[in-house]
Amino acid sequence: MKIVNQVYVEFPSNSINEGFARSLISAFISQIDPTVEELEDVKTAISEVVTNSIIHGYDNQEGMIGMKCVLYEDSVEIICTDFGGGIKDIQEARQPLFTSKPHLERSGMGFTIMENFMDSLHIASEMNKGTTVKLFKKFRSVSNK
Ligand code: ATP
Ligand code: MG
Repeated sequence: MKIVNQVYVEFPSNSINEGFARSLISAFISQIDPTVEELEDVKTAISEVVTNSIIHGYDNQEGMIGMKCVLYEDSVEIICTDFGGGIKDIQEARQPLFTSKPHLERSGMGFTIMENFMDSLHIASEMNKGTTVKLFKKFRSVSNK
């Protein structure tokens, strides 16, 4: 796969940066002209992953979030990393409706949404070291052009 563009950004785990990450990924993938629906899918997935780092990874304390985006001719790969608390049991965390923060009215659907809106989701995590989530999506509208 030929790389069209790539970008790496790091930002503090402040909730305003959820909007920043959405805008950044939107501008970035617009370069290959996906549909509005495909664009929305990726933005939603990014919101979920960044929110997870803020709320769960750093428990609302300050920390840095890294986002590497690689754009191919008809697809995008996004690797999002935090250096926070980590996930105890990844299999359990991926289950629909599982949340470790039910008292905060989380619905436990973030990973399920990422899985449904993207083509692949890989999670790597180590307790007290952090979490890396890798997302990939192929834009069928672009590949069929
Ligand atoms: P929702 O996303 O619906 O608001 P949620 O965040 O609890 O609820 P998921 O996004 O599916 O649900 O995440 C499931 C669980 O995985 C979380 O409750 C949390 O325990 C754990 N988790 C997810 N991301 C991280 C992270 N970056 N660091 C530590 N734990 C995480
Ligand atoms: Mg979540």
